Amino acid sequence: MQEHRQVMVAIAEARPYSPIPFTPAWRAILAILACAPFFALLGRHFWQVLQSPAQLAATRPEVMTGLLALVLLLCTLDAVLLALLWRRRHDDAPLPRLTLAVAFVQGFGYLLFSLAFGNFTSPFAVTATVSTTVVGCALLGWRVVLAVAGFNIPVALLYQALINASVVPYAPALPPASFVQGVPAAWWAWLRVEEYYVGIVIGGALILWAFTRFDRQRLELERLSCTDGLTGLANRRHFMERLDTEQKRAMRYGTPFSVVLCDADHFKRVNDSYGHHAGDDVLRHLGRVLAGGLRVPADVAARLGGEEFALLLTGCTHADAVKVCERLRRELGAHEFESQGRPFAVTMSLGVATSAGDDAGALLRTADARLYAAKAAGRNCVVGAGEAA
Ligand code: GH3
Ligand code: MG
Ligand code: MG
Repeated sequence: MQEHRQVMVAIAEARPYSPIPFTPAWRAILAILACAPFFALLGRHFWQVLQSPAQLAATRPEVMTGLLALVLLLCTLDAVLLALLWRRRHDDAPLPRLTLAVAFVQGFGYLLFSLAFGNFTSPFAVTATVSTTVVGCALLGWRVVLAVAGFNIPVALLYQALINASVVPYAPALPPASFVQGVPAAWWAWLRVEEYYVGIVIGGALILWAFTRFDRQRLELERLSCTDGLTGLANRRHFMERLDTEQKRAMRYGTPFSVVLCDADHFKRVNDSYGHHAGDDVLRHLGRVLAGGLRVPADVAARLGGEEFALLLTGCTHADAVKVCERLRRELGAHEFESQGRPFAVTMSLGVATSAGDDAGALLRTADARLYAAKAAGRNCVVGAGEAA
């Protein structure tokens, strides 16, 4: 745990990332929950009309009962879909059929809303089209929205043709008493206001959610672009960026900093004798030890590639850097690995260079030359300014 914390610290400016399980099932669940309040408003309205003799007298009871039954059917389908989705909520695999089913049920509910209250004279048609398209694309994908539109648009056109042919009434959910001298009656005005506020709350919540999600994804991408996949240390790119920053800071404030290049000794033999899998385990261990040896959060441990690592020791004099490297070298060499019952050890050679106003490239070349000198001196040793050839 301590080692893990150190690794995270070593990835400079690492930010916490808490993945929220937005699997396909979760997205479909959110789509159902976003539509549920509208369905509830719709169902309540039909129920209230059926309960009010005055309103019922002004409309057709069988139409109201039919609409209420349709809303209840949609709610039941949603409940079944929710139960199916809940079981798959941790699956990352796409759920095309379930997603399509969710989109069709919600889309049909909104179509019902629009037709029931009049496509041309109620705000529902516009808000339903806009919000379902935006929310549907965000949660379920544009292909699914297109498929639903491909079904809904012909149905709406067919219904319009039936209205024109006087087969069905226009806005069957609106009794004639909906308007009093051209002004919406109290209940009708109230339903529209409710729909408006529920839309704002749900739309606002979804926008907030989308932005939080994009922000989290951006942070995760940033973290991945700085991280070495095998060891979890900083990668070469991030190391070079931090080196550049540190060099500028050191120039400005006159503080020293050291760069260490480390290379595992005879690592090819480890792979050849114990296999690449064991070799990878060794690399992970080397990464943990190197990162664990850093005390200051501003320090960086990185894997430059292969079995080569680098350390950036900020505010560290040359003598201190050599001491740190000696400690790390001893710790690394003392560890006993094991593969298929055969114990083995891996040592490292380290070259240390400390900035005296040099540019980053020159500093790296010096550290590399010292690493080369450490290899030439028999490996498993640290070479700094004093011992440099
Ligand atoms: P030296 O002491 O001179 O550094 O010898 P060496 O064998 O460590 O150096 P060499 O450059 O000849 O070989 C490096 C080896 O590191 C070759 C390659 O198989 C291994 N290696 C590089 N990247 C990885 C990796 O990601 N995983 C594993 N398991 N091995 C790797
Ligand atoms: Mg090597
Ligand atoms: Mg090498």
